[in-house]
Amino acid sequence: MSDFKVTPLDKDTDFDNLPFWDVVIIGAGPAGLAAGLTTAHRGLTTLVIEAKGEPGGQPQFLYAEKKIIDIPGFPDGITGEELSERTFRQAREALVQFRFQEELTDIEETIETGKDEPLKRVVTTKGSYLCRKVILACGLLHYPRKLPVLDALEAKQVHYKVPRVNDYDGENVVVVGGGDSALDAAVMALQRGAQVQVFVRKEHPAGKAKSVERIQELGGEILGKTEIESAQLVVGRIVLQTNSGREIVTDHVIVQIGFLSAKETFQRLNVALSDDGSISIDPYYETSRKGIFAVGDVHGDIKLIVVAWAEGIQAAIYAFKEITSPYWLNERRLHDHKLALIGEKVSRAAAEVHRPN
Ligand SMILES: Cc1cc2nc3c(=O)[nH]c(=O)nc-3n(C[C@H](O)[C@H](O)[C@H](O)COP(=O)(O)OP(=O)(O)OC[C@H]3O[C@@H](n4cnc5c(N)ncnc54)[C@H](O)[C@@H]3O)c2cc1C
Repeated sequence: MSDFKVTPLDKDTDFDNLPFWDVVIIGAGPAGLAAGLTTAHRGLTTLVIEAKGEPGGQPQFLYAEKKIIDIPGFPDGITGEELSERTFRQAREALVQFRFQEELTDIEETIETGKDEPLKRVVTTKGSYLCRKVILACGLLHYPRKLPVLDALEAKQVHYKVPRVNDYDGENVVVVGGGDSALDAAVMALQRGAQVQVFVRKEHPAGKAKSVERIQELGGEILGKTEIESAQLVVGRIVLQTNSGREIVTDHVIVQIGFLSAKETFQRLNVALSDDGSISIDPYYETSRKGIFAVGDVHGDIKLIVVAWAEGIQAAIYAFKEITSPYWLNERRLHDHKLALIGEKVSRAAAEVHRPN
C-alpha cells in the first residue's frame, strides 16, 4: 500500500469501548502529534497520553509566544502556541483520541491477543490500555510537576519556580511539598518575612532534618498528611480547603513537588538506554523492546520540531507496516542495506582506530 494514501477512521467508532488500541503514543508534543495523525490517517485507532493538561510539548510550554522561524512553509514565522494549536486540531480531526493529565508509568507484555497479535498493556497514573504498538514521544525535558487543583486559578500568586521576591513582609505563603526544594523555598520565604505553612502529603517531610528545624525556628508550620482539595481566588487572595477540613487563606502558593522526568520513566520501561540516558533505537526507530518505538527528543541528537515531526511520521509508518503485515520489520532487517551499511562502517571505523601510525 502506498505511504501517501489516507484511510480515514470511521467517525462512528466507539473509542471509549475499544477492546484494544492499534497504537498508543506517549506525549502530545510535536513528535507525538505528528505520529498520531499519521497512524490515524492510515485507519489505525490511536490514543495519545499526555502528562500535562494540554497538548503541544515544549513549543507550547516553554516558548508559546516566540516566533519560530525555521519551520519550512512559514516564511513569516509561527508562534509555538499557534503551531501547537494547528497540529493538535489536525490530529483531532483525524480522530486521534487524547487523555490529558495522565502519565505513563510502565509498559507490560501480556498473554492477551488482538487480531492474532500479542498485546501490550500501557499503564498510566490513571488506568491501563491494551494495544498493539507503542510510540514513545515524551521528550527528555524535566517539567515541574503541576497541581491540577490550582489550574483554575490562573493566579500570579501560584508559583512552580521559587519566585524572586525580596520581601514577603506580612504576607502568607503556603509551600506544597516535603522534599528539599520545598523546604528551601519555605526557609527563603520565612527569612523574607512571610508567615509560612508547608503542606506535606506524607506524615513527615522527606527533606533534610536541618531544614525542618530551621523552618520551626523561624516560626513556620509544617502540616503533615495535608493536601489541597479545592482552591478559589477571593478578592486577590487564595482560599484553600484542605483534606483535613481546614480553610487557609494565603497570598502565595509555591508548589515544589518534583519534576516530571522522562528519564525516570525510561528506566522503568526496561528499554536499552544510551550513555546519556536517552533511549537507544535502531534505524527503524524501534527500541530494544519489539513493538515499542521512540521518536523526537527522547532519543535524538538533533532537537528540532521538524526532526521530531519527521521521526514521528516515520515510526508511525513502520508501526503501520508491522500491523498490516506482521514481521515486516524482521524481514526488512534480514535484507537491510541500512544495517549492512552500518555494520560496514563500524568495522571500517574500528580498523581506522586500530591502524598503526
Ligand atoms: C527554549 C527552546 C526553544 C526552542 N526553539 C526551537 C525552534 O525555534 N525551532 C525548533 O525546531 N525547535 C526548537 N526547540 C526544540 C523543540 O522544541 C524540541 O526539539 C521539540 O519540542 C521536541 O519534540 P518532542 O515531541 O520530541 O518532545 P516535547 O516537545 O518535549 O514533548 C514531549 C511531551 O511528552 C509529555 N510527557 C513527558 N513524559 C510523559 C509521560 N511519562 N507520560 C505522558 N506524557 C509525557 C510532555 O509533557 C510533553 O508534552 C526549542 C527548545 C527549547 C527548550
